[in-house]
Amino acid sequence: METLHCDVAIIGGGPAGCSAAIYTARADLDTVIIDKDPHAGALGMAHIIANYPGMGNDITGMELLESMRRHAGSFGARFMKQKVNGIDVRNPEKTVFTTSGTMFKAKALILATGSMGKSRELPGEKELLGAGVSYCATCDAAFYRQKVVAVAGRTREAVEEALVLSRFASKVYLFCPTASLTAPPEDIHMLQEQKNIEVFYSRRLDAINGGKFVESVTLGAPEEVVAVDGVFLYLTGSAPVLDFTGGQLDVCQSGCLQVDKDFMTSVPGVFAAGDILCKEVKQAVIVASEGCRAALQVDKFLRGRDRARSDYQ
Ligand SMILES: Cc1cc2nc3c(=O)[nH]c(=O)nc-3n(C[C@H](O)[C@H](O)[C@H](O)COP(=O)(O)OP(=O)(O)OC[C@H]3O[C@@H](n4cnc5c(N)ncnc54)[C@H](O)[C@@H]3O)c2cc1C
Repeated sequence: METLHCDVAIIGGGPAGCSAAIYTARADLDTVIIDKDPHAGALGMAHIIANYPGMGNDITGMELLESMRRHAGSFGARFMKQKVNGIDVRNPEKTVFTTSGTMFKAKALILATGSMGKSRELPGEKELLGAGVSYCATCDAAFYRQKVVAVAGRTREAVEEALVLSRFASKVYLFCPTASLTAPPEDIHMLQEQKNIEVFYSRRLDAINGGKFVESVTLGAPEEVVAVDGVFLYLTGSAPVLDFTGGQLDVCQSGCLQVDKDFMTSVPGVFAAGDILCKEVKQAVIVASEGCRAALQVDKFLRGRDRARSDYQ
């Protein structure tokens, strides 16, 4: 298993994470941004952004994000396409675990995974997790050789994971809760080319059923039970994405991560910025400013400064 060391590991490469990386990398801190898929975040999904200063009124969310990523990269921040599934923040050196098995060790963390998290758990999901319920086809697809699986979701991530599963499973049902998928046309084309994938639009998953292992899923409106051996969930909502923190950090009553005025969580050395925090208005310019403020505090924390300092050259 590979272990990578850095000064700052930023989990989430949306506008909050990219803005933070610009400041930490420019402050000469070895910075790694771990992001599962730029298209999985709110900015990557936004069609047109007309109100980000200096960017005009017809830039797409993805174009703005790519420009932010290039900017962070130009100062030396390294992007890693990995899905984080755990952290250990008990020691001064923080550990980040990913589904690929790569581990990151960092002196400080900035959490910036946004708020596209699933807001409700499906009946049967928790009970059958690891017994047919999975959130990662790349990790678990091989267990479903010649089996029938369901994928629930509408995003590019859901489409990509369905394609991974189609290489192993005999049949993949993709249940899209909306009338269309939010994936690029080329990905949807690949999906349509796969003979063993069947896509159902406007079909919501209501429950996952089984005893020891998953046996079927229940779809809603109209209700229907479909026999499957596994279920892969990529459902999005508007809950802060905190599943990988394993309850190690304090959260507010409304379920967002709790931070102090310096954007530090309840664990020293672990900072957070962006939509993962409670806010009245979710906007790219607001989270970019939070990323900057969190990064300046990381620099202060790691260098033992008595006040945060920006770098004008
Ligand atoms: C449809 C839509 C339209 C919008 N329009 C506008 C607008 O016009 N103007 C505006 O200012 N704002 C707009 N917003 C809001 C804006 O996009 C968000 O406020 C902003 O993107 C939040 O930034 P963030 O960095 O906190 O999170 P996100 O942009 O959501 O980025 C989070 C990142 O974390 C990554 N991630 C999540 N979980 C993991 C994990 N386990 N491991 C690794 N990586 C992970 C994701 O891949 C993603 O790249 C819009 C949002 C949406 C959804």
